[in-house]
Amino acid sequence: MILLDFTKSELINWVESVGFPKFRGSQLYDALINGKDENSKTNLPKDILIKVSELGIMQPIKIVQIQESKKEHNVKFLYKLNDGHLIEGMLMQYKFGNTLCVSTQVGCKMNCAFCASGLNGWLRNLSSGEILGQIVAVNSWLGGTAKERKITNVVLMGMGEPLDNYDNVVKFLKCATKESFEFSCRNISLSTCGITPKIEKLADEGLPVTLCISLHAPNDSIRKTIIPIARNYSIHAVLEAAKYYYTMTNRRIIIEYTVIKGVNDSFANAKELSELLANLPCHVNVIKLNEVKERGLKAPTQDACQQFVNTLNRFGISATTRRTLGDDIDGACGQLRNKVATNAEGGEKLSVASYKEVKQPKKSIKTNKVSDKNKKYFDKNKKSNTISKRHGGVSESKSNKNPKQRLHRQGR
Ligand code: SAH
Repeated sequence: MILLDFTKSELINWVESVGFPKFRGSQLYDALINGKDENSKTNLPKDILIKVSELGIMQPIKIVQIQESKKEHNVKFLYKLNDGHLIEGMLMQYKFGNTLCVSTQVGCKMNCAFCASGLNGWLRNLSSGEILGQIVAVNSWLGGTAKERKITNVVLMGMGEPLDNYDNVVKFLKCATKESFEFSCRNISLSTCGITPKIEKLADEGLPVTLCISLHAPNDSIRKTIIPIARNYSIHAVLEAAKYYYTMTNRRIIIEYTVIKGVNDSFANAKELSELLANLPCHVNVIKLNEVKERGLKAPTQDACQQFVNTLNRFGISATTRRTLGDDIDGACGQLRNKVATNAEGGEKLSVASYKEVKQPKKSIKTNKVSDKNKKYFDKNKKSNTISKRHGGVSESKSNKNPKQRLHRQGR
């Protein structure tokens, strides 16, 4: 049993049911969100901490490996779950704050042609507490607490398809926005390959997070070669669901378009895409493919990506290129995890990277082995990170018109 799977009121009731006063439940909830476990100093008596840790798992996510980008202010994390499975996440640091990319499943069923997450299939869904636990782990790694949160934005763009784990993801969204860290929905983005009935369902939840649709093609015939689930849901149906989402939430849709050399990168593709999107309030995020060796697809040049954006702009579509973040740290979904063999997962692959448990720092970022460059960045961010709710977006893009302009998009 994972204690972070409980909402605050569920946890308080549970604490009472195992024989402790209700106020201890409230204290325990704060301790969990602050990343504490049975060995930590908290305002709970030791015997209560020990008892609850015997009955349930206090921290479901352990950071086992950290890779820092030399080029960018990004950190990739490999996490170990309680059953030994591995998942990953990425922290992206911007001037406005820190964005954490979280996973929603171990592996992925979608098997998109360019993505590393689906290479070994799907193993299981993450529980809501395991999704929340990723924020807890990295926030406390950064020296943050629930009140002084060091993570400003969250993007559900890691391993897995969030809408294929609908109930747990919605429970996570409720916990992350209405309690625990009290994120604003505008500071959370959910990316989907386009499971239309679930997009419509999400539109009715009253959780107006930014919806990102991985379109990657201007028509069904190309899309079906890249995204297998496109055989079940046509582009037309996906965009109709996106329109419904916009109507219900008033949130502009983000269209993600990963450009793959010779597959979807031509002038004609850009023109067709602009016609397709003419009536949807959206912004297109053009992403240069982060090449995954096993997938064999090639990335176009940065110039070709910019040309694609220029064509979209010329035809009246708002679009920017997204920086390819973390290409030196296995930045694409599932790449780091796939490098690490795990006996617990019954993996047969050889380990090319040894991993060990990373001690969770108890004090601040300064206690971590973070490069001076990144340390300076985190420190600089400290002030603004004491939650700037002004920032509605999820990350930064480079605008072709004004490179200084920071738009609300996620980078990988
Ligand atoms: N299943 C969800 C979320 C995970 S992927 C989805 O399909 O949206 C999130 C985004 O990561 C996708 O839009 C895709 O564009 C991007 N992505 C994954 N692997 C990539 C790669 N190798 N290169 C570039 N972008 C990638």
